[in-house]
Amino acid sequence: MRRGTNLPRVGDFNQMVVLDQIRRAADGVSRVEISRSTGLSLQTVSNIAARLVTRGLVVEGERRVEGRGKPPRMLRLDPRGAYALGVHVDPVVVTAVLVDLDGERVERRRIATPTGPAALVDAVAAATRTMLEAADVPREAVLGLGVAAPGPIDMANGLVIHPPLLEGWSEVPLRDALAEATGFGVILEKDVSAAMVAELWRGNRMLRGTSIFVYVGFGIAAAVAHDGELFAGSSRNAGEIGHLMVDGDGPPCDCGNRGCIGVSAAPATLVAQAVARGVLDPSTPQGSPGELDAALTRVCAAAADGDARAAEILRTAARRVARGITTVADLVDADAVVLGGPSWERLAPAFIRGIRAELAEHATLREMHPVEVLGSAVGEDVGAIGAASLVLDDTFTPRPSGLVASVTRPAGP
Ligand SMILES: [Zn+2]
Repeated sequence: MRRGTNLPRVGDFNQMVVLDQIRRAADGVSRVEISRSTGLSLQTVSNIAARLVTRGLVVEGERRVEGRGKPPRMLRLDPRGAYALGVHVDPVVVTAVLVDLDGERVERRRIATPTGPAALVDAVAAATRTMLEAADVPREAVLGLGVAAPGPIDMANGLVIHPPLLEGWSEVPLRDALAEATGFGVILEKDVSAAMVAELWRGNRMLRGTSIFVYVGFGIAAAVAHDGELFAGSSRNAGEIGHLMVDGDGPPCDCGNRGCIGVSAAPATLVAQAVARGVLDPSTPQGSPGELDAALTRVCAAAADGDARAAEILRTAARRVARGITTVADLVDADAVVLGGPSWERLAPAFIRGIRAELAEHATLREMHPVEVLGSAVGEDVGAIGAASLVLDDTFTPRPSGLVASVTRPAGP
């Protein structure tokens, strides 16, 4: 097994710069425009463009009349020129997707999370095979496989350390196991960071300024991006805000404190409160992540149907989460907060107004600029699409060193 090698490159740095320009131009871009904006000579740009067209990554569009002379031909990305695979590992469900070069989902598989890492690796390998068959995409057209898993992650060795609620998981070499099982180069990243990259890749408004992604699932984590780049931290594990204390009278946490942000909105907490207040029957199964998830859905449904006790439980949780988000938003001087993750769609109706109000009334920086609060633009597959986006991001974004340390490829035959 070779280590630290990169995904298959689409060419040298200049080629990535040109490809990046083409990707960002929704209506196509001419060779002259690329030359002007990159500082590369027109001849260099033309040579690179010819190579990209030959490889099927770029197509020549219509001529656009601008000024005198022969109108130039516009260059565009060919969305079906290459593909990326993405997998999101969550305690309840594993989601696998195949996306095209635009990050558009082509295929999706959802599998109840198998017990133990070996079964999960087999299930993911099978899902990638069936997706490629269903979409009639040859293996050679796939740039790589991105994997989003609960943090923290040992990026140097590709290990998922000890994710809560995943039975039998401790220092699992998930990156190398998946590379071996699928034959693709693999990038492993924290779920929240992958989700942020998905938003950066799909949601243009977040490419500028400072934004936070808040991942709401069995735990709560955050990712920060500035000017379209994820802030990863020194071990690529930035954003572990789960034990940020938001209410000294809040529910007890495993860490020994009370009212940490993570436990305040954890499915187990909300379900236990719902049972205590008679929203759910005491016999409600709560043993497994899947049972807790199903019970959380019922609490949210009860609140939506007008159950005042359920609504109060969610309102209190929202207030606690909002307090933590306000602190993080002030810490990084954020313009936007985006929320997503496995529990978000269900909690959003009860949460989003409270979070907006808390930021508008209590953020220290509220007088400097407003903070926009949004639901994920990518939706419920944000983890898996984010994982695939990591591959696209590593392929397209010209930077001296990207996610190289977290990448591996299987050894050749
Ligand atoms: Zn705690």
